[in-house]
Amino acid sequence: MEKIKMTVPIVEMDGDEMTRVIWKMIKDELILPFVDLKTEYYDLGLMERDRTEDEITIESAQATRKYGVAVKCATITPNAQRMEEYKLKKMWKSPNATIRGILDGTIFRAPIMTDCIKPAISRWTKPITIARHAYGDVYRGVELRTGEPGIAQLIFTGESGKTVKQEVAQLQGPAVLQGMHNTEKSIESFAHSCFKYAIDTKQDLWFSTKDTISKIYDGAFKEIFERIYKDYEEEFKSLGLEFFYTLIDDAASRIVRSEGGFIWALKNYDGDVMSDLVSTVYGSLSMMTSVLVSPDGKYEYEAAHGTITRHYYRYLQGETPTANPIASIFAWSGGLRKRGEMDGNEPLVRFGNALEEACLATIREGIMTKDLAQMAEGVTPKVVNTEDFIKTVAEKTASLM
Ligand code: NAP
Ligand code: MG
Repeated sequence: MEKIKMTVPIVEMDGDEMTRVIWKMIKDELILPFVDLKTEYYDLGLMERDRTEDEITIESAQATRKYGVAVKCATITPNAQRMEEYKLKKMWKSPNATIRGILDGTIFRAPIMTDCIKPAISRWTKPITIARHAYGDVYRGVELRTGEPGIAQLIFTGESGKTVKQEVAQLQGPAVLQGMHNTEKSIESFAHSCFKYAIDTKQDLWFSTKDTISKIYDGAFKEIFERIYKDYEEEFKSLGLEFFYTLIDDAASRIVRSEGGFIWALKNYDGDVMSDLVSTVYGSLSMMTSVLVSPDGKYEYEAAHGTITRHYYRYLQGETPTANPIASIFAWSGGLRKRGEMDGNEPLVRFGNALEEACLATIREGIMTKDLAQMAEGVTPKVVNTEDFIKTVAEKTASLM
């Protein structure tokens, strides 16, 4: 079989620990035999980030701006223990945060669904994708705890020198205070990414805040989304898609009663809470994908899970890898399919689809890794290790191509 040609490279960001090992297996067994792969390779493994003083992360994000599509392996976010373990020069920032900052993007998390893993909410027969606004609000808040009665005020001093003052409260005793902000630019970027991704994946977009209570703050989010929707309205209509705004509490109850199949865009805190809730309902972190989408339509695909450290330490002791590679495979299939769509490369699009279908067909036959076998219903699982799972997927991909 002739390998599929690529015209434009994708950016490849390598990573750490167990996922780095799995990443190589996927490349060797599932990608290179089928695709004449063109990548711009960036090693975001922690040692290389330390050696380059994290320049490599910045370069990889800039390359993503240039080429439009990246695939990323999971990476360690350093903490005190990692500083010691890797003898780091500095506690480098989370690569995901750096890349997201440079691309100004929004993260969309969606479950990979199969018949044999039933969501805890049985009505959810289709995936729900969560889009979390990843800037500001309480995550950039300033807080005070006061010890005496007094007046709390909100003051803004403009560059022009003009000031605006607003009383927060007359306090009779000790109290807690919080000041938070968001920027119109960030909210606009969030809205553009959401509308673009809805069109891209042909799914309805829901957005919810609490604008009845927070008339100005949440009201601005609502107003900005409604304004930016006008840029996309025609395309939404022609694709039969809906943009639906409702209050967060109304959305929460509608979602539970829904069958899924849409994107739910949420403010930072709401998205933090709801993404954990929704992903738990669908069953497994190992079956969750993640895509970073910038407001000007650049894409970075990855698994939602981390570097699976516990498995890696056991691997270093000589144990055969047993982790589930599906979410990492879907990062590759998603990235290559997007590359194919951007370049009008139909064979590459077909390959992305075949790879995903091959994973799902393997599970349908009961062939799965341990994490899924524990949850499977309706099939008799045949538990395999990571390598054997990937080999089966490779055979099925070949038969589908
Ligand atoms: P994790 O790597 O997602 O793993 C947590 C646990 O979830 C694992 O121990 C394993 O449970 C299970 N799990 C996750 N993915 C799995 C898979 N593919 N197959 C089977 N089981 C899977 O999270 P963590 O242990 O909290 O974080 C480890 C490192 O990853 C940290 O250094 C963190 O900074 C980094 N991280 C990176 C990203 C990213 O790059 N996007 C995201 C999150 C975390 P059992 O051990 O019970 O089998
Ligand atoms: Mg959280």
